[in-house]
Amino acid sequence: MATNENIYDEIEIEDMTYDAKLQLYHYPCPCGDRFEITLDDLREGETDIGICPSCSLQIRIIYEIEDLPRPEVEAEGQKVPGMVMSEQQVTALAAAT
Ligand SMILES: [Zn+2]
Repeated sequence: MATNENIYDEIEIEDMTYDAKLQLYHYPCPCGDRFEITLDDLREGETDIGICPSCSLQIRIIYEIEDLPRPEVEAEGQKVPGMVMSEQQVTALAAAT
């Protein structure tokens, strides 16, 4: 539903500041206020748009789910290193299409 009209910039999540108390990320807005997006929004994939409440400018946040701080420690067993394809396999796949 969101339009791109008000997207001011795209920001890497590493460049944002995480507020552990409020569970949100913020980033300085040119108007002097700041863009905000909650950790829940990012984690649930609901939106990747941070909004400045003062001027309604928006930023798109570039992030990976794995980059987000976790509410509780989870086992590392979810990673499946065996699924990574070799370069030859990728090339073969590309050639086949
Ligand atoms: Zn603003």
